[in-house]
Amino acid sequence: MSKYWSSLVSKLQPYVPGEQPKMANLVKLNTNENPFGPSPKVIEAIQSELNDNLRLYPDPEGLALKESIANYYGVKARQVFVGNGSDEVLAHIFQGLLKHDKPILFPDVTYSFYPVYCGLYQIESNVIPLTDSFEINPDDYKQANGGIIFPNPNAPTGRYLGLEHVEDILNANPDSVVVVDEAYVDFGGETAITLVDKYPNLLVSQTLSKARSLAGLRVGFAVGNEELIEALNRVKDSFNSYPLDRLALVGAIAAFEDRDWFEKSRQGVISERERVTAELESLGFEVLPSKANFVFARHPEHAGADLAAKLREQGVIVRHFNKPRISDFLRITIGTAEQNNALIKGLASI
Ligand SMILES: *Cc1c(COP(=O)(O)O)cnc(C)c1O
Repeated sequence: MSKYWSSLVSKLQPYVPGEQPKMANLVKLNTNENPFGPSPKVIEAIQSELNDNLRLYPDPEGLALKESIANYYGVKARQVFVGNGSDEVLAHIFQGLLKHDKPILFPDVTYSFYPVYCGLYQIESNVIPLTDSFEINPDDYKQANGGIIFPNPNAPTGRYLGLEHVEDILNANPDSVVVVDEAYVDFGGETAITLVDKYPNLLVSQTLSKARSLAGLRVGFAVGNEELIEALNRVKDSFNSYPLDRLALVGAIAAFEDRDWFEKSRQGVISERERVTAELESLGFEVLPSKANFVFARHPEHAGADLAAKLREQGVIVRHFNKPRISDFLRITIGTAEQNNALIKGLASI
């Protein structure tokens, strides 16, 4: 606290990201990074962009990347917004499309950045409990609101809501923006981007951090009706004209072009996820059905915090949330086969 701070800053409760340890030999299964690494074509594209052009500003609109994403999903470039990680895209969404007179709705167990943005932009929220089995019930989203946001698959549960239920929420809320945060959709879900021409109130956000293994490059995007995208452009051009640098732009385009790498990488994660789930279950864990690159699991005889601490002693770090309803769960990122074996071995010994 300082007398120099604004009253808003004094009241903020910032997001706490998962630990990025300085020790290299840890088995790092705590922040949902993709263990298989980015496409070599991404590295090549970035290397060929390392030249004197770095003295020039990048394209403020990132049009070539928007075209590449538009082409990939069969939409128009004007229906695409790009930003410095999907966290930045989400921040602009909260400020530009979710700040209205009525409270916004999101699940009680969800991405913990949402309440942080509400604090930053002074948006009221009405938190909707997931069902006892940690699912989103679309009927709970049929009440007055200033907007709706949820991840699909949800984080940290990993549970996926079928598109027919997403449509149910969209149909019940024609006057508010419904944001589907699809950070993990490529690990077994179906994207709602196919619905953006049918629902003018639908905005889908995605990231290159997870399935495309580029968390370090910081690229995220949103797809929706042109009017929604225009709102995001207005916020962005009132904030930072050049959120994506030259390296990020060419790297992201190369990532969308290398479909083979993407397929192999996500299939690798999915098959390891199924194996880890089975192994955890055989150790007595309850594992929520996941369509993400992590699993959310609890053991009937061990507290989540204890398990996380003991795993850490063995050099394996996972994420534990000290929060109501989920304090006995561990969120475990799916790693390489070798990393997952270290996890299972560690848990078995505990
Ligand atoms: C990882 C994640 C993001 C943020 O991704 P970045 O593009 O790396 O900022 C957004 N939403 C959810 C639910 C996530 O898990």
